Amino acid sequence: MRTKVGLIIMTGFLFFHCHSDVPSRQPIMQSQTLDSGFHAELPKAHTRDFSSDELLGRFEPATHPDFVKIQTTHTSKSEAYLRADAYTAFVSMYDAARKDGITLTIISATRNFSAQKGIWEAKWNGDRLVEGKNLKTDVKDSVERARMILRFSSMPGTSRHHWGTDIDINNLENQYFANGKGKLEYEWLVKHAGNYGYYQPYTVKDSLRPYGYEEEKWHWSYLPLSKQMTQQYKDKITTDSISGFKGSGTAGLIDVINRYVLGIHPEGLP
Ligand SMILES: [Zn+2]
Repeated sequence: MRTKVGLIIMTGFLFFHCHSDVPSRQPIMQSQTLDSGFHAELPKAHTRDFSSDELLGRFEPATHPDFVKIQTTHTSKSEAYLRADAYTAFVSMYDAARKDGITLTIISATRNFSAQKGIWEAKWNGDRLVEGKNLKTDVKDSVERARMILRFSSMPGTSRHHWGTDIDINNLENQYFANGKGKLEYEWLVKHAGNYGYYQPYTVKDSLRPYGYEEEKWHWSYLPLSKQMTQQYKDKITTDSISGFKGSGTAGLIDVINRYVLGIHPEGLP
């Protein structure tokens, strides 16, 4: 049974995409020997049932039994949490990267609904500028205002950061990853992250990924869990459940689940 589960999960990693400007990811042909110990460091993901509250971020990671606190070596935050499986895999990836002279620092991990609500409403209310604009005064149409925020920030209840499987690494600007140190870090991730279960959900927008957030070279997701969560989100959550913050009425109008939650690179879709 364990072998079967391992094989099913790892099959997901066999399908990698290619960017024209970055090295293609390496398929993990040896993954089929997962249970023989060849990839002993890669934790096995069991099929799990996640509650609607977990999928919507309505919990406290600090007290949730499946979450662990990230050690200060691995994060710039004073306090950050991930699901234990995702963190174990990250630590293996971190150690491998260090051997290649690359440092991967988690600059954001789990953010629950209330944390995301704080980010969203600061932008909605004009307390935080969005691409140089005060949205409260400059963008009166609510759908248009929500779409502007959605270029880079999730609506509360729809963020992958709610899930405890997703992290931001090193810098929040694509430009950082275009040259020098940042470029080497990104190239390392593109080549190796898949070996540890991590993938980039917000790749460049193209025919494979026509909808959703702009490209985020810093955002990486632990697929053995997050793929299951994507499926369960699709099955359990409707836009009626996305409420409790300013502008939540736009969720249905924007079709935020299909366009954003499911607007990821197809490798991560169930
Ligand atoms: Zn992120």
